[in-house]
Amino acid sequence: MASPSEFSSRSSSLGRKKVRLHSPRWITLSAVMISLAALVSCSEKIVQVPAPSPEPAALVIDGAQIWDGSGAPPVQDAVVVIKGDRIDAVGPRGAVTVPANARTIDAKGKTVIPGLINMHGHVGMTKALKQAKENYSKENILAQLKQYARYGVTTVMSLGTDFEPIFEVRGAAKPDESPRATVFTAGRGFTGKQGYPAVLPGNAGIPIEVDTVDEVKAHIQELARQKVDMVKIWVDDHWGHYTKIRPELYRAIIEEAHKQNLRVMAHLFYLADAKGLVEAGLDGMAHSVRDREVDPALIKSVKERKTFAVPTLTREESTFVYADPPAFLDDLFFSRWADPEVIKTLKDPAWGKKVKADPDFSKYAGQLKMGQKNLKKLFDAGVKIAFGTDTGPPARFQGYFEHRELELMVQAGLTPAQALQTATLNAAECLQVEKDFGTLEKGKRADLIVLDADPLENILNTRKISQVWIGGHEVN
Ligand SMILES: [Zn+2]
Repeated sequence: MASPSEFSSRSSSLGRKKVRLHSPRWITLSAVMISLAALVSCSEKIVQVPAPSPEPAALVIDGAQIWDGSGAPPVQDAVVVIKGDRIDAVGPRGAVTVPANARTIDAKGKTVIPGLINMHGHVGMTKALKQAKENYSKENILAQLKQYARYGVTTVMSLGTDFEPIFEVRGAAKPDESPRATVFTAGRGFTGKQGYPAVLPGNAGIPIEVDTVDEVKAHIQELARQKVDMVKIWVDDHWGHYTKIRPELYRAIIEEAHKQNLRVMAHLFYLADAKGLVEAGLDGMAHSVRDREVDPALIKSVKERKTFAVPTLTREESTFVYADPPAFLDDLFFSRWADPEVIKTLKDPAWGKKVKADPDFSKYAGQLKMGQKNLKKLFDAGVKIAFGTDTGPPARFQGYFEHRELELMVQAGLTPAQALQTATLNAAECLQVEKDFGTLEKGKRADLIVLDADPLENILNTRKISQVWIGGHEVN
């Protein structure tokens, strides 16, 4: 694994992102309730108005096991102090000064972990089981960021399918908003003229289609003006069915993006394309290599250039899992926040028939296995892995799939702690936001999940969510 110092040295040359600080809603709310109580008392002609109890100055999560995401072992009987949107103190009882007059949450027997960071998601394009540009709106983006938040996914990088409304929403929730995931954006991603995936149903008009280096330059300048957090390219022909962007164009995209201090992540599938992209200076692989095993040449090149890798194993699973209705459709952790009509459609044999009719259907389960094999190979070789799912498109469920992704990573051979670290510190480093996100440390954002059971013992315990806190606000 690339050492954190290697990452920060590269990060610092490109600058870091700033995230606004907001005071928590519950402090504002309690202030309003106290004033309301005083008003009611006055109207009832009670002469003596009781003095309002002072507002809590801090929130304390008390007595939990804390796994802070830094790679350190968990701390038992620990205390987290939150002030505003930040962690003010964290550590074992006795080492942390608990402020007087704090609101305290008894968390004995629970485990607290940082909120999950998804390096590859999509927001705002899907409604029910249809993806289309017409669905894209501020309202739909916010609803989906809320859905991520319910599941403890507190930050998401939206990778290449975003339009104007995202620039109003990007970053953390504003003070007047209900708590939701923080979102970063790549704006619109690139493909070639009539290239994959622009030609797929539901994708018309979403990617930027380029045919010349001059077109690339103009669009990169536009993305730089929008101050996007990443640039996205799709490099794929989907088993030869569609047109793949030409290497001269993806090289120009990477080169021009770097000139603007923007980094580039690529959708890729084939080992040969991964090699070409990494040689050209790609910053992150947005999916696993899935046509064959990664070889020593790619591993060497990825390590030299410190390219990070995002596995998106659930994306592979989603291509075949609905052939017959999967058991998770009846799992309350899924169905509680899912659209019943969507569940009904996915259980309908007609849906399964359509899935099996895909001419490449027989290849898909193998692609997942290859992705898992390559995740383990890259991880063991010391390549930086950042968590990502490619959720957001139809039937790739935001929130629920992130928990399944962790399970598939553990099945691939990572320990629960290693899988969770890809979704906390590693993802924050790959986003270059580790100053504010990714671990439970003094000064960082209070984005955390309170779990009823220990995920280090069993990764399925990430689903036993008691509370999610984002920037000091509880998600509910
Ligand atoms: Zn994607």
